[in-house]
Amino acid sequence: MCLNKFKYSQQQDAHEFLLYLLSEIQQELVGKNKYQKEEFQNALEAWDVYRSRNPDIITDLFAGQIASKSHCLKCKEISEGFDPILDLNLPLSKYYIPREFKLQDCLQNYFKEEQINDAWKCDKCQFVNKSVLRKIQITQTPKYLILHLKRFTQFPKSQKITDEVTYPEILDIKQFCAENVEYTKYTLKGVISHMGQLNGGHYVAYAQRQNTWYHFDDNIVTKDKNNQHLSDKGAYIIFYEQL
Ligand SMILES: [Zn+2]
Repeated sequence: MCLNKFKYSQQQDAHEFLLYLLSEIQQELVGKNKYQKEEFQNALEAWDVYRSRNPDIITDLFAGQIASKSHCLKCKEISEGFDPILDLNLPLSKYYIPREFKLQDCLQNYFKEEQINDAWKCDKCQFVNKSVLRKIQITQTPKYLILHLKRFTQFPKSQKITDEVTYPEILDIKQFCAENVEYTKYTLKGVISHMGQLNGGHYVAYAQRQNTWYHFDDNIVTKDKNNQHLSDKGAYIIFYEQL
């Protein structure tokens, strides 16, 4: 009703819709998300400013924060930037032979230190680094963690990565968090799964309500008696709740 783009009976992307829905709720409650890139002394200061500018339920439930550290090759200075997040977009590598991934491996890959081949000017010594070593860490954990598996890729060609991804009922993200982060344990709360291919498919969802798991398939809602929510191989968006 709000956006023609999401008209009935067209192929849509659940992740795109989810982000649209969250931002629309936020906008109707308190106005547009107020975020601008600024310099902060530390993660907590950046977080406090972000929270005070966005005092809404979407921030309370879904927002977290990541810090990215860049190392200058010349003066060895480490500069840190802080960004609020509503979800993590985890790439899946494409192999010639379909294989099974573990969610933890996707996270490991996402948070590993990497060399980015982009020019970057160091604030301290003004040296223009041709490439930069960058490491990201979670500095604020959200109440609900949304993990989006990037199954749909545009490059080198448009395709769906159909590899199976397994995910645990209890997830601890401690190893991806800064040292002072306290609550890093999560329990599985919902799964959106995609079946089919890039140009045609169907979504189903699993969600837990009052300790019972349900399976949502269009207008048919059933109890998930066989615990399919733990073994659906088409997982596309996974929701965890902080313990
Ligand atoms: Zn430098």
